[in-house]
Amino acid sequence: MKRALITSATASQHSESPVWEGVIARYARYLPVSGATPIVTLKEGNTPLIRVPNFVHACGGKFELWLKYEALNPTCSFKDRGMTMAVSKALERGTKVVICASTGNTSASAAAYAARARIRCVVLLPHGKIALGKLAQALMYGATTIAIDGNFDEALRIVRELGETGKVEVVNSVNPARIEGQKTAAFEICDHLGRAPDFHFLPVGNAGNITAYWKGYTEYFSDGRIAALPRMFGFQAAGAAPIVEGRPIEKPETIASAIRIGNPASWHGATNAIEESKGLIDKVTDEEILNAYQLLARTEGLFVEPASAAALAGVIRCAKNHLIPENSVVAATMTGHGLKDPDSALKTSGTEPLIVAPKKEAVMKVMGIY
Ligand SMILES: *Cc1c(COP(=O)(O)O)cnc(C)c1O
Repeated sequence: MKRALITSATASQHSESPVWEGVIARYARYLPVSGATPIVTLKEGNTPLIRVPNFVHACGGKFELWLKYEALNPTCSFKDRGMTMAVSKALERGTKVVICASTGNTSASAAAYAARARIRCVVLLPHGKIALGKLAQALMYGATTIAIDGNFDEALRIVRELGETGKVEVVNSVNPARIEGQKTAAFEICDHLGRAPDFHFLPVGNAGNITAYWKGYTEYFSDGRIAALPRMFGFQAAGAAPIVEGRPIEKPETIASAIRIGNPASWHGATNAIEESKGLIDKVTDEEILNAYQLLARTEGLFVEPASAAALAGVIRCAKNHLIPENSVVAATMTGHGLKDPDSALKTSGTEPLIVAPKKEAVMKVMGIY
């Protein structure tokens, strides 16, 4: 009775159940799980795919843009799709401690799923470079939270070395279970649209997600569920664009802290996805990222974090350069919630509340009505 919350993979293999039980239950037949796998889920996945015509109009495009709003996962980023798999598999192997390096969202997700599984979680973060909401999550879920005086790449190196001791299980996307879980977002998009998009845009940091989406699309294609594959378009931040530059970046810099990575673990997965899909990898400046970030919020009422907006900055760039033919079906992944990084939001909005006396006339005056 110790783990009453945890079911096994076969117990929920009725994947067409009308009640959403998380990505493993829904897509078990595409995942390396069995009846012996204890499923640790917070009912991640099943996120909305939202069409954004106002945004497309504002950037002068004539295509359909659909945003996979991963902000509505349990810890408010797509990382939960991979983490339900990584922590379930860790538990199946009898792991007692999971560990990760993180720019913030992986640690939030690992901490939550470890709490659910009642195992220990240790997270290594680059000191002073984590968005406030993400740090609050790791601490609140009870992870042992360690800030290193270094960047993400250095934290990941240490974590990989610790993994080799066999005493802890690494739940970064170097763990293949993470990629397996994350590919379910591609399945959901195809299930929703009844086809694959023509283009798929996403931000690229450690490059696990672009690798996972491509795996998902190609598996659905092999299975005859979609008739064509999308072209994968990845975007890095200009100050942290190792794949675009073709070399590791020692001191990556960008406002988009989730993709502030100089030596991506899934580098090859990303280049493979781009080559095989006849896609593209490019970089966008922080200015373009912040512009897209604010434009989405103001034209569509969707608040994402700066890293997610890198994909949108890419859409704007491609629309301007006429790289997206008319009537194309375009998908973009909104990787994380805007509320995770309130500092960036407050700075970017460039406005402050209007402070007035507690009188009707005073409010009318600042509204400009008399
Ligand atoms: C992790 C993350 C990314 C980057 O994903 P990778 O798989 O590392 O390329 C982008 N945006 C957000 C919000 C993230 O949390």
